[in-house]
Amino acid sequence: MRVYMLNPPYLPHFGRGARWQDTGRGGTLYYPVWLSYAAGVVEQEHETRLVDAPAWNWNKDDVIDDIKKFKPDLVAIDSSFPSLDNDIQVAEAIKQAHDAMIVLVGPPTSQFPEEILQSKGIDVVARLEYDFTLKELAEAVALNKDPRHIKGISYKDNGKIIHNPDREFANSGDLDRIPFVSKLYKKHLDIKDYFLGSSLYPEVQIFTGRGCPHKCTFCSWPQTLMGRKYRMRSISNVLDELEWIENNLPEVKEVFFEDDTFTINNRRVLEFCKEYSKRDLDTIWACNARADLNYETMKEMKKANCRLLIVGYESGSNEILKNIKKGIDVQQIEAFADNARKAGLLVLGDFIIGLPGETRESIEQTKKAIKKLKPDILQVSVASPFPGTEFYQWCKENEYLLTDNPNEYLDEQGHQKSIVSYPWLSAEEITNTVDGILRKYYISPRYIPVALRQVFRKNGLYELRRLWYSTKMFIGYIFGR
Ligand code: SF4
Repeated sequence: MRVYMLNPPYLPHFGRGARWQDTGRGGTLYYPVWLSYAAGVVEQEHETRLVDAPAWNWNKDDVIDDIKKFKPDLVAIDSSFPSLDNDIQVAEAIKQAHDAMIVLVGPPTSQFPEEILQSKGIDVVARLEYDFTLKELAEAVALNKDPRHIKGISYKDNGKIIHNPDREFANSGDLDRIPFVSKLYKKHLDIKDYFLGSSLYPEVQIFTGRGCPHKCTFCSWPQTLMGRKYRMRSISNVLDELEWIENNLPEVKEVFFEDDTFTINNRRVLEFCKEYSKRDLDTIWACNARADLNYETMKEMKKANCRLLIVGYESGSNEILKNIKKGIDVQQIEAFADNARKAGLLVLGDFIIGLPGETRESIEQTKKAIKKLKPDILQVSVASPFPGTEFYQWCKENEYLLTDNPNEYLDEQGHQKSIVSYPWLSAEEITNTVDGILRKYYISPRYIPVALRQVFRKNGLYELRRLWYSTKMFIGYIFGR
């Protein structure tokens, strides 16, 4: 039984694993991280090939040639909202060229199962978290069994679309049983293909937990893929993986914990730091954090080799933070920035323009906050209302969406553009504001000391290399606009 796990071709450097799926302004390329985890589960019992077409610059024909050689019985294709039409077309081309069951996975499958299954190229969709759904589906194909009993899938039966009940999310114990994703990267991918503008290169991205209990209305992953409940791998399991990486991927300079928010459970973070120190580990790591993280914990994280925190500040306006149910205010954001600096941690501050209640005045508040907080790395995104989120529902009810088609969320180069337009703030103004803020921040003499602060620290040369590459890519992006 052979299973082909495909991150399908689309635009170069397109990241289906990114929070705002696009082609990344600073040269970013994400691992196909969810697909890789599922490949690890499937590979325990079946011959599996994991293919990352955007990383390898493969087009549809390259994939089809490869599929004809591998001759899979089951093909799992990843998808995202902005690439959905493309992903369905890839599935159709594969179906015409090779006779195998095709299953689509990824966030759109939980929102549009009926629409996706209208395609002749797709037999099944695996909704929400899909590692164990694919495992069961592969077993059913191998044994020529009816997939009717498999939870979490929708499929066609004599022209009728059947939706099986949702599958329970994997629990913490299950997460410990999933093979280390870094082993999959080493076996199937080339870690040098992947780049995060905020991480030392080369890096690997792993999850230590899944899901997020917070209620931010714009945030897609918990609402369309991984759920609200935070499920955690055991500390020893995570540290074992770090040890494995040190021994088997010695070129890795940083491990990025991609958990929606690694700092949800403060006690666990402290325990992780304590246990990290007991092992003879050198791994530098970074993580996604929330702005309610306290100074004492930051200090322990720094001692345990944490280098950088990625934090969703989102806005400099308390009203907007309230509208999006962030559960954080500007005062907490300022304290977080001060504390992180005191603790010696770098910060990537994320902001979003175009959220509910955004006005020219709130944009000014955000600009002022950026000036005051001076994040080491600034990320500003266009507020994209992904289907399935509360933000999307709100935009739809209030008729602020320019289009209902998520395939139109990106411009021709694959960069974000606003599809939300308010009577007092146009889509064009939102998109231009994002570019304007980034340009002003990075191409300004005021950024020089911020950049130098990153270079004059441990691993300064690697920091310089990272900064150089992302600056080069960012300048290319600005001039390409
Ligand atoms: S805390 Fe972060 S991951 Fe969780 S819902 Fe909010 S934005 Fe999403």
